[in-house]
Amino acid sequence: MPLTPATDADLDTMREQLGRPMRGVVGIAARCACGNPTVVATEPRLPDGTPFPTFYYLTHPGATAAMSALEATQVMRELSELLSEDEDVATAYAAAHRAYLADRAHYGDVPEIEGISAGGMPTRVKCLHALAAHSLAAGAGVNPIGDLALARGDWSPSVCTCVSPRVAG
Ligand SMILES: [Zn+2]
Repeated sequence: MPLTPATDADLDTMREQLGRPMRGVVGIAARCACGNPTVVATEPRLPDGTPFPTFYYLTHPGATAAMSALEATQVMRELSELLSEDEDVATAYAAAHRAYLADRAHYGDVPEIEGISAGGMPTRVKCLHALAAHSLAAGAGVNPIGDLALARGDWSPSVCTCVSPRVAG
């Protein structure tokens, strides 16, 4: 799905969500039901020159907490086993990896991270936050592991749990 521009209000919200200033933001890739950013898209090379492979980064505290909770359970192992045992899932996950790299490539060619996406793609499950961020950005049906992680987590993009929900208008 196309990025939406990051407004000053978005940058302020994400600074609150993450507790640090934002760097190299190119847009917002997914939003909460209230409009707050859920996934930020970041340049593959930060303004200070650092390569940054995680193009889609989960910012929403509710989503982040849900993925952290899942990572503390057996879900990582389950999803890893699914990936190694189900050819269709493995094929879709490899395609998700390529889609991720293609999305990022629009924002510059960074040789240091060429072929490196996020979350363990294309063959491992290492970070549910990164995989869920990709699923939220791309929409259902692109990243099978991210989709499953979101389905298993106790957070939904359609129900606002923000500490400071965005007020319309
Ligand atoms: Zn919200």
